[in-house]
Amino acid sequence: MDYKQTLNLPKTDFPMRANLPQREPEMLARWEHMGIYRRMQEANAGKTKFILHDGPPYANNNIHLGQALNKILKDFIVKLKAMSGHLAPYIPGWDCHGLPIELQVEKKLGKAKSSEDPSEIIRRCRAHALQFVEIQREEFKRLGVFGDWAHPYLTLDPQYEAAEVRELGRFMASGVLYRRKKPVYWCPSCVTALAEAEVEYADHTSPSVYVAFKVAEPLPAKLAPLHGRDLSVIIWTTTPWTLPANLAIAFHPELEYVAVEVGGKVYLVARGLLDATAQALGWSSPRELLSLRGADLVGGRARHPWIDRDSVFLLGEHVTLEQGTGCVHTAPGHGYEDYAVGLANGLDVYCPVDAHGRFTGEVPEFEGQFVFKADAAVLAKLREVGALLASEKFTHSYPHCWRCKQPVIFRATEQWFIPMEQNDLRQRALAEIDRVQWIPPWGRDRIRGMMESRPDWCISRQRVWGVPIVAVYCDACGEVIADPKVAEHAATKIAEHGAAIWFTGTNEELLPPGFRCPQCGKSDQLRREKDILDVWFDSGVSHAAVVETRPELGGRADLYLEGSDQHRGWFHTSLLTAVGTGRPAPYDAVLTHGFFVDAEGKKMSKSLGNVVAPNELTNKYGAEILRLWVSAADYRDDMRISTEILERLLEAYRRIRNTARFLLGNLYDFSPDRDRVAVADMPELDRWILHRTQELIARCREAYDHYEFHLVYHSLNNFCVVDLSALYLDIVKDRLYCSAPASRERRAAQTAQWIILDALTRLMAPILSFTADEIWLYAPTHPAKTDSVFLVDFPALDPAMRDDGLASRWDRLLEVRAAVTKALEDARKGGQIGHSLDARVQLAAADGLRPALVEIASDLPALFIVSQVELLDDLASAPSPLLTELKVQVAAARGGKCERCWNFSEEVEMHPDHPGLCDRCYAVVTALA
Ligand SMILES: [Zn+2]
Ligand SMILES: [Zn+2]
Ligand SMILES: [Zn+2]
Repeated sequence: MDYKQTLNLPKTDFPMRANLPQREPEMLARWEHMGIYRRMQEANAGKTKFILHDGPPYANNNIHLGQALNKILKDFIVKLKAMSGHLAPYIPGWDCHGLPIELQVEKKLGKAKSSEDPSEIIRRCRAHALQFVEIQREEFKRLGVFGDWAHPYLTLDPQYEAAEVRELGRFMASGVLYRRKKPVYWCPSCVTALAEAEVEYADHTSPSVYVAFKVAEPLPAKLAPLHGRDLSVIIWTTTPWTLPANLAIAFHPELEYVAVEVGGKVYLVARGLLDATAQALGWSSPRELLSLRGADLVGGRARHPWIDRDSVFLLGEHVTLEQGTGCVHTAPGHGYEDYAVGLANGLDVYCPVDAHGRFTGEVPEFEGQFVFKADAAVLAKLREVGALLASEKFTHSYPHCWRCKQPVIFRATEQWFIPMEQNDLRQRALAEIDRVQWIPPWGRDRIRGMMESRPDWCISRQRVWGVPIVAVYCDACGEVIADPKVAEHAATKIAEHGAAIWFTGTNEELLPPGFRCPQCGKSDQLRREKDILDVWFDSGVSHAAVVETRPELGGRADLYLEGSDQHRGWFHTSLLTAVGTGRPAPYDAVLTHGFFVDAEGKKMSKSLGNVVAPNELTNKYGAEILRLWVSAADYRDDMRISTEILERLLEAYRRIRNTARFLLGNLYDFSPDRDRVAVADMPELDRWILHRTQELIARCREAYDHYEFHLVYHSLNNFCVVDLSALYLDIVKDRLYCSAPASRERRAAQTAQWIILDALTRLMAPILSFTADEIWLYAPTHPAKTDSVFLVDFPALDPAMRDDGLASRWDRLLEVRAAVTKALEDARKGGQIGHSLDARVQLAAADGLRPALVEIASDLPALFIVSQVELLDDLASAPSPLLTELKVQVAAARGGKCERCWNFSEEVEMHPDHPGLCDRCYAVVTALA
C-alpha cells in the first residue's frame, strides 16, 4: 500500500511564483470590475471620516519615483484607515496651470505665434495638461493606489477655477490685497515674477567689489572736522549691476563708525569691519581720525560715483557686521530691505532694468546690456572714475529659478501682494502652525521659520495659463479696483466657460451689470487685469475648492502628506490661503517624507544618470516590490534604492508569499464553519502560536496607527520567518500530515492556521495589496467571507486568544527546544543520526525546569521532532551550552521506522495487516479503508 496517499499533504492552486508584472494587471482589472473603491466607501458608510487630502502633482511628465513613493504612502494610509473603522475617501488631484506647461506650449508654437492669441495658448496648455493627467492616472493606478480615479480634482476644471476666484474675492473683501511696485524675485529668462517657493539656492560666482562714494558737503556735524578732506564712504556689494540704481547708503544707528586716513584720503567704515576692510584693500596702517555712531550720519549724503545724483545716508536696523563695511549700498528697486528702508525714507522704487533683465534707456551707458553681463562694464566704469577700491570673485549661495535653473534677479515691478502683517496674517498663521501636528516634529520649526521671515506674498504672474486676477483698472482716473463683487460675477462666468473667458470676453459679460469706477463713476475706460495668479495660489486653495465642496470629503482634512520640500510650498500656501480668509489651518496633521537617493546616498538626477523610473521597476519586479520597499525604508529620511536592496526585498517577499502558500495548502479541506475548533480545546502549541499572533496584531496595528510602516514590514517578516517557518509550522507538520483528516488535533492545527492566515492577509493588505487580495481569493470560503480583503477591517484583538502564562512557559520550552536542536545538530554532524526522527533524546533538567517538561512530556517528541524523549534524573554529559539547567543526550530511537510517518516506534511490526505502521498510523489507515 502507498501510505503517502493517506497523508494530508498540502494542496493549493495558489501559485508559488508570484509573476507580479503579469499578475498585477489582472488584479487591477478585477478591482476595476468590482468597483473596489466604491465598494469600500459603501462598506464603511457612516463610520468616522478620515480625510487625507491629496497634494496635486504637476501634470507635465511621466511620474517619477518620488511621486510613486508619495502616492504609495498615501495609499497605505487611506487603506489602513479604511481597515480600522474609518470612512476614508481619497480624491486624487492634479495641478494643471503654470509656467512649465506654458513654456513647453510656447516652444512648440513659436514665440511670434504665441503672443498673438492667448486663447490658442490656453487651449493647447489645457490639452497638454489633460494628456498628462491621463498618463499619470494610469501610472498611479498601476501602483495599486485606490481612489476615486474617475472623479479627480483638476485645477483647470472651471468649477475649481471659479472657487479659486471666489477665494481671491475673499482676500479682496478683507481689503488687504494690494498692488504696488516692489522688488520681487524675477526670472529674466522665463520673464516672470517668482514666488518664494519657486526659487532654489545654488552656488553662484559674482564679483565682490569695494566702492568709494565721495561724501558731499555740507557734512553732518560730527564729520565737520573732516571738512575739505577727500572723504569717501566705502560700500561692498556682490551685485555691481545694481549700482546704477543706487539711491542711498544705509548705516546702523547704534554701530560705531570710524574715519581713517590712508594715503592722504579719508574713508568711513564700521569699526567692527575696519580690520577686514583694511585686509581686503591692502591698507598697511590706517590712521584713525575720528569716530561716531551711525545715527550721527543722518542728513549726510554722498555722490554717486559716476551718475549725477546724490546717494543719501539712511539708518537701518538691517545693517550688520557680518560682511562688507557696515555701510550698505541701497537700491530700493533691487532688494527687499533696500525697498523697505527706501519706503520709510521716501525714496523712489527705482528699477532701470526691463523684464528680460536688460538695462533700460534710464542707464544710457549700459542700455540693452543683460545685467549679469553688464557687471564687467560697471567695474570698468568704476575703475575709470577711480571709485573701485578692490574687486575679486566671490562664490556664494544665490537664488536660481526652479524651472530654468538660471540665476534670478530682484526687480521692482507692479505686482499684486497678499500682505503678511495686515489682518495679522503672520501671527495668526504662526498660531495655527502650533496647533497642527507635524510628523516628524522638526517640520514645525521648519515651516515656522519660513513663516516668521517671509515677505508679503507676490501672487501675480505675467502669463496666461492660469486663473486671472480679476481686478479692474479705470484708465479715466487711474483707480485700481479689487472688488469682491467683480470677483463673484467673474466666478459665475468662469464656472460656466472656464478661466479663459476673462481674457477673451467683454467687459459687458465679465463685469457686474451697471458696474462703474467707484472713484470717478465712469464705465467707459475700464480695463481688466491681465495678470494671472501664482500657481501656488491655485493648489493652495484646494482646501476650499475641493475639501469644502466635495460632499464626500465634508469640510476639513485630517492629514496632508507630501515631500519635505512642501513646507515652503503647498503646506505653506494652503495655510496662508486658509488663515488669510478667516479659516483655521486646513489640516490637523502634516506628514512629510524624504527623497530618493541611490545606493551611495546621491540624489537622483538626470546628469548623474542614476534616475530610476517607476515603470521600469513595476515591469521588472512588480509594483508590489516597490510598495514593499516604501514600507521597509524609513520614509522620514532620504531613502536608498538599488538593485541589491530590491533583490533583498524580493527575497523577503518570496518568504512571505511562500508562508501564505503553505498555510493555504494546509487548509484545502478546511471549512471554517464546519471544522473550527474552539481555542480552549486546542493543544498548547496552537494556543501558543495564536497568542503570538495576537501580539503580532497588536504590534502591527500600533505601528499602523503611528504610520510606522517599516515596523509593520519587520514584524510581518519576522513572524513568517521565525514564529511560523522555523517553529510552529515545522513542529505541527507531523500532526497535520499524519493525523486522521477530520481529527480534532488536525482540525485544531487547521483552525489556528486559518486564523493566522486571515490575520496576516488583513495586516499586510495596505502594503502588499496585490498579494493580500490574491491570498484572500484562495483562502477557505465561508458565508461571511467578502469578495476582497479591502472590504473587511484589520483583525481585532481577541482576549480569548491571549494567554500570558502559557506564553511565558512556552518561552522556556522554546529555550529547551533550541538546546535540543543544537544537540541533534551535533549528533547529525557526528554521524550518530540522519534525520532528527532517528533520535531518542534523553533530558535531565534542574529542579526549576523539570516540572514544565514533565507537564507536557507526551508532547515533547513532537516539539523536538524526534521519535522519543526520556526525562531522566541525571545524565553523565555536560550541561547544554545554550541552557545550563539542562543536560541533553542523543541516542538512537527504539523500535522500527513507521513507513507512513517516519517516526520510530516499538509498535511497528505489531500489526499483521499493516506491519510497517505505528499505532497512530495504523488507526488512521484502517479508519480510511
Ligand atoms: Zn526661469
Ligand atoms: Zn475711475
Ligand atoms: Zn506512524
